[in-house]
Parts: sequence; C-alpha cells; structure tokens
Amino acid sequence: MDHVTDMAARRAELTPDRVAFIDQATGERLTFAEVERQASRLAAALLDMGLVEGARVPILSLNRPEFFIALFAAQKARLVLVPLNWRQPFAELSPLLATCRSHVLLHDTAFTDVARELAARHGLARIGLEPGMDTPFVLADLIADAEAAAAAAVSGRPVKASAPWYLLFTSGTTGLPKAVIQTAGMAWANAVNYVQATDLSSTDTSVNYLPLFHTAGINLLTLPLFLFGGRSTILRKFEADDVVRLIDKGEVTAFFGVPAIYQALALHPRFGDLDIARLRSLVCGGAPVPEKLLSDYQARGATICNGMGMTETGPTLFIMDPAQASAKLGSVGKAQILAEVRLEGADGRVVEGAGEGELQVRGPGITPGYMDNPEATAGSLTGDGWLRTGDIARRDADGYYFIVDRIKDMYISGGENIYPAEVERVLLTHPAVLEAVVIGVPDEKWGEVGAAFLIARPGAALEVADLPAWCRERLAAYKVPKSFSLVTDLPRTAAGKVRKNILKDRLGEGAT
Ligand code: ATP
Ligand code: MG
Repeated sequence: MDHVTDMAARRAELTPDRVAFIDQATGERLTFAEVERQASRLAAALLDMGLVEGARVPILSLNRPEFFIALFAAQKARLVLVPLNWRQPFAELSPLLATCRSHVLLHDTAFTDVARELAARHGLARIGLEPGMDTPFVLADLIADAEAAAAAAVSGRPVKASAPWYLLFTSGTTGLPKAVIQTAGMAWANAVNYVQATDLSSTDTSVNYLPLFHTAGINLLTLPLFLFGGRSTILRKFEADDVVRLIDKGEVTAFFGVPAIYQALALHPRFGDLDIARLRSLVCGGAPVPEKLLSDYQARGATICNGMGMTETGPTLFIMDPAQASAKLGSVGKAQILAEVRLEGADGRVVEGAGEGELQVRGPGITPGYMDNPEATAGSLTGDGWLRTGDIARRDADGYYFIVDRIKDMYISGGENIYPAEVERVLLTHPAVLEAVVIGVPDEKWGEVGAAFLIARPGAALEVADLPAWCRERLAAYKVPKSFSLVTDLPRTAAGKVRKNILKDRLGEGAT
C-alpha cells in the first residue's frame, strides 16, 4: 500500500492538548490540535487560490512554527513545499523559482526585499508568514478566513507515501546543491530510524535551529519528534546563547547538532557550568565528527553519538549506540532498522565481513530521486533500489561502520590513495588545532600532494612549523601534507560544512 496517514491530523487526534511547538521569539505555544487546525485551513486556502495537486510552493523563511504549518498544509493539499536557501542572492534564487512554476511565494519579514523582487520577476502572489505583513496575502488571515468545511474536507485524507511532499537541497559541499525529493514515506522511515536509535519518546523535547532548507532543520529531529508526540522549541536561527539557556533550563532532552555547533557550544563562556550530561540524547553528524570533540564531551559525562546520513536518505542511516560510543570511538555504529547497507569494493564486488568500500544504501528512507534531474538520479540510484552514497566506509569485525571519506575528496600522491579525513583526524589530535582541512592539489612530481588549512584553538599558540613532525610521527610519510596554512576562516555551507571545492578553486587562482 502506497499510503500513509495525514500526519498532523492523526497526531492531533492522539494528543490534541500537548504542546508541539514553542516559538522562542514570541513565547507562543502551539498544541498539536492547533497545528492541525491551522494546517488544514491553510491547505484549504491554498487550494482555493487555485494551486493544484503537485504544484510547488516556494518558501523563504527563518525557523518559525509557521514553516511547519505550511509543511503540513502542503501534505494535506498534496502540494510540494520548496524551502529556499535564504543565503542565496536573487541571481541564484530566480532560476530556481523559474523551475518551480509556482504562482505563490511564502516568506517572512526577514526576506521581504528579495521576495518582492522575485515576485515581480516571476509573477508570484506573496503570502506573508507573520501577522500584519504588508503582503497581498497573510498566513494568519488565510487561516482565519478559510471555510471550516473546506478545511475538514482536506483533513485526514490518505497521503501517498511515495509522492513528492517537499524538496530539500543537498548541502552543496561537492558542487551545486541538488534538489532531493522528500516523501512522507521517507519521513516515517527517518523517524523510526532516529527514534529507535536514540529511544526518543513523547516526553522528549528538542530545539530547532538548523536552517529549514537543509534536511537537518526539518528531520533532525523536529519532524520525528512531532510524529512521536514530542515538543520542539523553535529558534529563528542558531544562537549559542539561546541554546545554552534552553539546555540550562532543562527545556531540551534530545539534541542534534553538526560538529561546528558542538564546537561553538564547547567554546561558549557558560559551557563549563552547563550540565550537558543531563541530556538524554546527543547526536552529531552531517560531517566528519572529530574524535577529540567526542572525547571532550565524554570527559564532561556526555556521550555524543556519531550519526551518518544524507539528504538523499531522509537522512538517518546510522547512529552510534551510546553504550558502545567510547569503545568504538569515531564509529557511526550500525545501520538503523529501516536502512539496508552494503559496501562495494574497488573491484565492483560486494564486500563481505570486515572491509572497506563505497557505502550503498537501500530502504524506505531513500529518495525516489532528484527533482527534474533524471541523469543525476540515474547516476546515484541503481535499478534495484540501491543508492550510491559517494562515501567510503569501513566495517570492522564486529559490524561497526566508520566513515572513511568522500570518494570525491580522495587524492592520489605518488600512486597512493589518500583520504584527507584520515590526515585531518591526526591534525585534530594536536592540542592547538581547532579545525583542520586537507585537500589534494596538483603537483608536478607526485601528481597530487596534500595542502592543509588550520584554524588555531582560541588562546592557543599554534606553531605551523611543528605540524609536519606531528604528522610524520602518526602517519605514513606520503600522507603528510606538503603545505600547512594557518587561516582564520573557511568557506562553509549553511550546514557548517567546509566547501573543499571552493578552497581548491582559491588555490588554483593563486590565493590562499
Ligand atoms: P552535496 O551532495 O551537494 O555535495 P553534501 O553531500 O554535503 O552536499 P548532505 O546530504 O547534507 O550534502 O550531506 C551528506 C554527506 O555528509 C554524506 O554523504 C557524507 O559525506 C557526509 N556525512 C554525513 N554524516 C557524516 C558523518 N557522521 N561522518 C562523516 N561524514 C558524514
Ligand atoms: Mg552529497
């Protein structure tokens, strides 16, 4: 059966009076019943505006409960919500809007200027997300004016598990971001994977702060928590002060962050006093997680579980079991209950037992493909449902997985394959190094050599001249980078990942 239930409607019937969302900026609390009421009315209003099944609805918004109202409304009205990356300028957003062929654009006051420009160019009717906005339509008014009967008619209808529900862009770490189709079936698989890995329940609470145009903002872990009846406090965006305050107040029991966020929290002046160990679940993923980060938190009594996933996989594939986190430091654990995985060796054969190869995954959490991009879809998905992740993973004799690196980041020096992540891990063990990035750069003699970029730990004196020896003691000579540069900043995606392709381009242009 290709059907699941209307998520907001079912949840509201089960736990109507529990709080689903708290808006940190306004203090407003929305119960599940209120989310359902608003979402079904908005769905009716959007259909009344002439949007038809499958139409794409772009949204430019900071994190706010209205975003999730729009998300559930899209599910009910069978529309496809397209959260736009608000870090992109008009010139980048405009072609995306052309592909949406939409006639509305939802936005909040943070993006009025660019929304006006986009609306004028593409003939879009703007819907303001905040009450009283000076837009042709305002969300609260559409909700208030919608016909109760029309709202009732869209509420509780079956939802196609495999139909596009929203689009999410990949982080753009290796090239241009790709628009990944997200379905209700994927959302359920992700929720089950996340919840079973971390033992989440309706008594758990979290904080939503990662941008909503990437998978983590929606799926790690606000949507899973919603489906299981838990509560999220929504911040407009990440502010370490706010997150520290919420943890301190006991308002957060389960937390997901990317490594850059855990670093930022660890550097916060109040971190020392924070009882971080009281959190029931801490998961970190989305990029390689430095082992030092894991052990620093461990020293504070807090176990961070390394997790691995992709936009294309909903995202949750792996989350480390907390009981094994120290014994298997750095591992992402085993594949979760709704994810099937295999490793394909360099010879194209499936690796049995302990070994290394390209990680390939299958299961109900995997995307049906990239929107409007059949070539990319065919390049990533095999005919029998396996997705090529483009990541190299290693499985140990106990069946635990370790992410080695992206295939694209590997470089070859003097005929030897080098995974920059291995070199970065060694650099990160140096006490004065906060961040380390290694890329392969062309070299006349060796084909390619490593170039390392380092950010010093605040207050620490980092002597770059010491680093070659530090590496030589811990790595084979051919893996030791040929150059080491101290930098204050690195080019990053909105999810905080280092964009190595930009670093390479910069080096190519002769600037570091
Ligand atoms: P793009 O596909 O546009 O280049 P991206 O791959 O960074 O960007 P995402 O879908 O956000 O976009 O990220 C998924 C990738 O992040 C994985 O394929 C993997 O390379 C990396 N990743 C995620 N979690 C981990 C982890 N715990 N350890 C190492 N790498 C990870
Ligand atoms: Mg990717």
